[in-house]
Amino acid sequence: MSVEASCHCGAVRLVLDTAPATVTECNCSLCRRYGVLWAYYSPSQVTLIPPTPPTATYLWNGRNVAFHHCTNCGCVTHWSAVNPKRDRMGINARLLEPSILEAAERRYLDKQDRPSG
Ligand SMILES: [Zn+2]
Repeated sequence: MSVEASCHCGAVRLVLDTAPATVTECNCSLCRRYGVLWAYYSPSQVTLIPPTPPTATYLWNGRNVAFHHCTNCGCVTHWSAVNPKRDRMGINARLLEPSILEAAERRYLDKQDRPSG
C-alpha cells in the first residue's frame, strides 16, 4: 500500500509505493544537523507531486547527492543522486505519518565526518 510524505506546507509531496520497513538515522555532519531519518527507495518507486516540486537543493563534499528542501516551509524532503543512473534516492521519513515511522525499524549509520547519503 502506498504512503504519502509531505512537507509542512504541502507544496512538496512524495508518494511511496510501499511504507518503509527500515529508516536510517545518519550522524554525518549534514544529517545530524537536519535531524532527518532516511528511507531509501528506487526513484521508480517514488512519485513527486507536483512532478517538479518547489525545492531548493544543497550539494556538498563529493557533490554526488542533492539535498532538497521546500522553498516555502523549509522542510528537508529528500535527496536525489546527481548521476541519473544511480537507482537510489532518500526520502525524509519524518515527513510520513508518525504511525508509519513507528512501525519501521530504526537503523543507525555511523558516517561522522564522511559524505552522507
Ligand atoms: Zn513546504
